[in-house]
This record gives sequence, C-alpha cells and structure tokens, in this order.
Amino acid sequence: MRVRVPFGRREVMGIVIECRTHSEIALADLKPVSAWLDASPLPDDWLWLCRFTARYYQHALGDTLHQSLPVLLRQGRPLEARTRERWFLTASGRDCPPERLGRARRQAELLALLRLHPRGLTSNIITAQGFSRAQLDALVDRGLIECQQEAVIDGPSPGSGGWLAEPALSLNREQATVLAALHEGLDRYHPCLLQGVTGSGKTEVYLQLIEAVVARGRQALVLVPEIGLTPQTLARFRKRFRVPVVALHSGISDGERLDAWLAATSGRAPIVIGTRSAIFTPLARPGAIIVDEEHDGSYKQQDGLRYHARDLAVVRAHHHAIPVLLGSATPSLESLALAQAGRYRHLHLTRRASRHPPARLELVDLRGRARQGGLIAPTIDAIRKTLTAGHQVLVFINRRGFAPTLACHECGWLAECDRCDARLTLHRQPPQLACHHCERQRPLPDACPDCSSADLRPLGAGTERAEETLAALFPDVAVHRIDRDSTRRKDAFENTLAEVRRGAPCLLVGTQMLAKGHHLPHVTLVVVINADAGLYASDFRALEHSAQLLIQVAGRAGRAEHPGRVMVQTLHSDDPHLRLLAEHGYDALARQLLEERRAADLPPYRFLALARFESPREADVTTLADTAASALRDWLGPNSSPVQCLGPVPAPMERRQNRYHVQLMLSSTQRSKLHEASAWLAAWLESNREARRVRWSLDIDPQTL
Ligand code: ADP
Ligand code: ZN
Ligand code: ZN
Repeated sequence: MRVRVPFGRREVMGIVIECRTHSEIALADLKPVSAWLDASPLPDDWLWLCRFTARYYQHALGDTLHQSLPVLLRQGRPLEARTRERWFLTASGRDCPPERLGRARRQAELLALLRLHPRGLTSNIITAQGFSRAQLDALVDRGLIECQQEAVIDGPSPGSGGWLAEPALSLNREQATVLAALHEGLDRYHPCLLQGVTGSGKTEVYLQLIEAVVARGRQALVLVPEIGLTPQTLARFRKRFRVPVVALHSGISDGERLDAWLAATSGRAPIVIGTRSAIFTPLARPGAIIVDEEHDGSYKQQDGLRYHARDLAVVRAHHHAIPVLLGSATPSLESLALAQAGRYRHLHLTRRASRHPPARLELVDLRGRARQGGLIAPTIDAIRKTLTAGHQVLVFINRRGFAPTLACHECGWLAECDRCDARLTLHRQPPQLACHHCERQRPLPDACPDCSSADLRPLGAGTERAEETLAALFPDVAVHRIDRDSTRRKDAFENTLAEVRRGAPCLLVGTQMLAKGHHLPHVTLVVVINADAGLYASDFRALEHSAQLLIQVAGRAGRAEHPGRVMVQTLHSDDPHLRLLAEHGYDALARQLLEERRAADLPPYRFLALARFESPREADVTTLADTAASALRDWLGPNSSPVQCLGPVPAPMERRQNRYHVQLMLSSTQRSKLHEASAWLAAWLESNREARRVRWSLDIDPQTL
C-alpha cells in the first residue's frame, strides 16, 4: 500500500511492501507513517514482477516500484478510475408522452432521443447533440430521467452479439495449424515462437488467440514496439472486438494512463495493448501475453531500469502459468536458440496471405558507379519504371539530415562535435550542423575553420539529400520524406501516410520509421540506399540487427495486388553474410550466425553483464573502473572462475556530451554465477566512496555494447 511518510523536513510517498513485528532500530528512532493512501493493497502480480525485475536487473526495488506505476499514482492520486455520467429514462420517463412537456420543445426532443437508447447515453454524447445541462436538470426535476456514474473505460458487455464486432477471417491451413497448437496450451505456461514472414497473417493469429482468451473470461496483454503502436494497429484490434481495448503508450495523457491501468487491474479491460512499459500493467485475470516483433530493440530500456520487456513477458507468463506468444518475421537469435533447444515451441507461417511471396533481395553493386544523392543509374532506372507503371517507391536510408557530415575539400577537415567523439550531421531544413548524440547545434560555417577554404562539401547522403535528388529527378511526382525531423509536428506522419494510401504514384524517402508495421499497399519497389552500415560494425549484434531491418524494409514491397521488388545497394556485394541473406533468407543467415556465436562463445550461448562508468573527469572514471575490476577479480579468485571479467575498456564512443565512458564486461555460461558476481560488484560500488563521484550502472543482458 502507498503511504505518506516523514522524510527529513518533507513528507514523501512510500510503498509498504512487508510488515515486521521487530526492528533492530530503537523504537524511538522509528517514525510513524503519516497517512495511508490506499484502502486496499496494490496488486500482487505487479509487486511480484517488480521484485523479480529489481533482483534480476540489479536495480533498487524502490525505484523499480516507482517507475512501473502510472505517474498519477506516484503522485499519490487515489486508486479510482475517472467516471462519467450515463443518462437513462426513469419508469415515468418511459411512460411520458412528449406532448406533456408542452412548450419545452428541446426537453421533449431529449426525451425522445433517450427513448431510442435503452442502454443510456453519456453526457458528452448528449451535449454533442446540442442539449444543455439545464435541459438535463429540468428533466431530472420532473422525475423523467436519471443518471448513473460509470468508469470511463467500462467493462465488457458482449450483449447478444458475442465478443466479436466483426467475424474473424477464416484461416488458411498454416494459420489453422498454428492456432490449434496455441489452443492446446491455454491453461498452462506455453511459450511459443511464431516465425512468420511479413504479411503471413500473424496478427490474425493473435486476434483469434485473444478471442479464445477473452471467451474464457481472461485478459490478454499485447506488447508492440514503440513505433508499431499506430492508430492503424489499434483500429484493427478495436474493430474486431466488442470489448474495451485499452492502449498504453507515450501518446496518452496521465489521466488516460491511470484509467487504462485501473481498467486492466480490475479486469474491466479484457485486452490491453501497449509498448515496453505495459509489461508492468497488473491484470486481474491474466490469460495470455503476446509480444509482437519480439526482436525489436525498443523492448529493452536503455537507461535507468534496464529491463527487457520481452524477457519479462516470458517470466511473467511462467509465473501466471499462462501462454506467451512471441511473434516475428525475423526472430532474435536469443529466441531462436531457445526454440532450437526445445524450450519454446517453434511455430511457422511461411506463406503470405496475399498472392505474392515476399520479394527477394537483389544486391546492387555500388563499386565504381557514379552516385546521385546516394543512388546509381540502375536503381534510378528501376524507380522511373515503377513510377511510370503507376506504382509507389520506398527509398530507405537510415540516416536523417542532409549528409552525415561536412568536409573541407582543401585540407580534409571534418565537422566534429566538440563534446562527443562524433561527426556533426549536416542539415538543410533548417540549415545547421547538429550532433545526433548530444543535440548540440551549430550554424553552418562559411569557410573551413582550419584552412579558411570556402570549398566545404557535404560528405555522403542522408534523407534530406535523397529527397532533394529524387525531387530533381522526378519533378512530376510527390516526394514524401519521413524521419524524426519531418514528423515532429503532431499528425504529420499519419497525414502523409493517409495521402500515400490514396495510391497516386509517389516516392517515399525515410528511415526505419517507415520500415515497421505500416501497411503501404501501393509500394512495389523498395530501394535500400546502403546496406553496409551493419556489416563490419564492432558490436557483435550489428549484423543480426541490420539483417532484421533489411528484411523488415523489404517486407513493405508488394503487399497487395502487385508483386514487389527490393534493390539493395552495397559496396560489399560478395560479403558472405549479405549473400546468404539475399539468396537464402533470414532463417539461413540466423542459423549461420548462431553457429558463429557458439564458436565465439557469445550470447545467446553465454550471458553478459556490462558495468558502465561515466564522469566529466577522465581520471575519475578510469581509476574507479580499474579499482572495481581488480576488486572483482580478487573476489572471483583464480582463472578457473565460471565468471570472466573483461576490461575495463573505453566505451565505443568514449567521449559523449563531454563525459568519459568506460566499461567492464562480465560474462558466464551460468546465469546464476553471473548474477552473484554482478550483485557483488553492485554492492562493492554502492559502498565505495570513490564511486560517488562517478555515475555507474549495471546492464544485465545488454543489447548494445
Ligand atoms: P502479419 O501480421 O504477419 O504481417 P497480417 O495478419 O497483418 O500479417 O496479414 C496480412 C494481410 O493478410 C492483412 O491484410 C490480413 O487482413 C490478411 N489476412 C491474414 N490472414 C488472412 C486469412 N486467413 N484470410 C484472408 N486474409 C488474411
Ligand atoms: Zn580546410
Ligand atoms: Zn555531441
């Protein structure tokens, strides 16, 4: 329960998680609770999950509890859903002929309106019809109508029509096999990995699984990536079911979030759909958890409480003894390894629901070819043909801005951020140099700061430059740019997509915002400007992630009547990994990568924890990291320890926002041993005086190094 307690000179909110009858602290030193904020305890399942999360991720329990509550509850708001009024006719209202109201014409009309709605109408619907509060009050005074308070999100009321507002699609054979497998495990922990190409009907399977869960009076929790919870997705769920579907994402107000949380907690909301943090939503009657695009990076929180929502989904399903379904066209190597080991049931959808199979990736060699805004002649040709045929083209480039940097053609100077080990990105709209790591912005220089030459040129291409080139090459068609800059304005993204869905030939240029989830039925050609970023990166996961992104982008092509084509420009068209992906698909590459990971003793065959240290003073970080590492090594003992300690080493970007970053890697094949070692390290840092001058954190199962 939440309480208010004295804390120094202030009072703060706290949460009582246990009661004790004895204390080591003298009674006189203990302070009484000032006030109890809750009449009944906070949900059990939530507390259980928070305890697990805090322990597993080595994070303070207090902060875990705090972060996983809706803002209004953190502020002490009561556990009460907002209500609204619903108006009904009374018995005498039902019997009253409208003439009795004489000259009160509007009151008679209001009475007639309510007569048409035996289940009542809410105040906002009534006022939207132009009726006033005074007219409502007058009818109450005459004893003809009355109102009831109801929660803003009301409970399920299937009525006569059943749970579904529209009939489910009849499944193809593959989908039916998958659904039958899922039906077998509705009453137990049943972890399944659903691997299905884009457009193979995974979402339809989710919907029918949810239907089975709801029909049993249970609740379904659906997690979607940050970028994936589009109005389109939500509309699809809401259109199917006659029960409330509550959404939890960054776009809702604090009040809406509290309402949704309470509706889930009380069981009034049978379907809860949300992004990462929704995993902490309490459920009165949990029935299934679904994680869509389970490989998506946004499930891992990258600061503070560094949890992975997909992993917590599996833990939570195990705790509740309910099924958990992880879906993806390109599953993470972690999930694939568990499926290979028989820990997850591996389900497949190989065929698209529409006529056309997913397009193959065509590798287009960039070597020795002149580029225009990043594009070469064969690709430009293909774009022209597609537009002439009346179709749409998506050009994917994972870099916003005009160019990755500005260079001096005279002396080789490059625009660099003075606070980070990073280049500044050149932007044209508005014109400036910007650091994408610390948000530093600088005006464009007229001349090179080193040699004063005026010959400054953009180096490479970003979305703005591709947009400019395409607009010049194809002046007669619309070019829509979609990236974080062009969609800052609310609704800008949705408006553009609506325009694109109308179907006129056009060009879409964008970053990964475009790659995920959106149904673009008229796109038949996808062009990837450069596939090489992930091929030789230092992070061992880079290849996995760029393959997932490529397949996802490719999945945008040819989803409706026409077949699709995907052209991937690269400087490394003989790269064996890229060829494997292009010729044999994601599955073949994933199997190969798993073999390589096993050989190199890397996740998912080994578990990692990363200790990060940062400070504005370089000496402080290195000293602390060195001391911590040797203390840990002493504790671990001689080389035979099951836990290895690597480093400290500078972080990939050592200086960021004028702070120095150093890291220490722990690894083990035994999760429990890694856990003990990280707990020891956390305790050591907690009690070390030097550590107070340095910001440090532990990242369990880090996703980026
Ligand atoms: P995914 O989630 O795997 O990308 P969807 O569930 O969105 O696939 O399905 C892709 C398209 O195919 C959607 O337009 C969907 O309505 C349609 N679809 C899915 N299953 C069926 C089916 N059994 N019969 C007809 N159309 C289907
Ligand atoms: Zn110069
Ligand atoms: Zn910077």
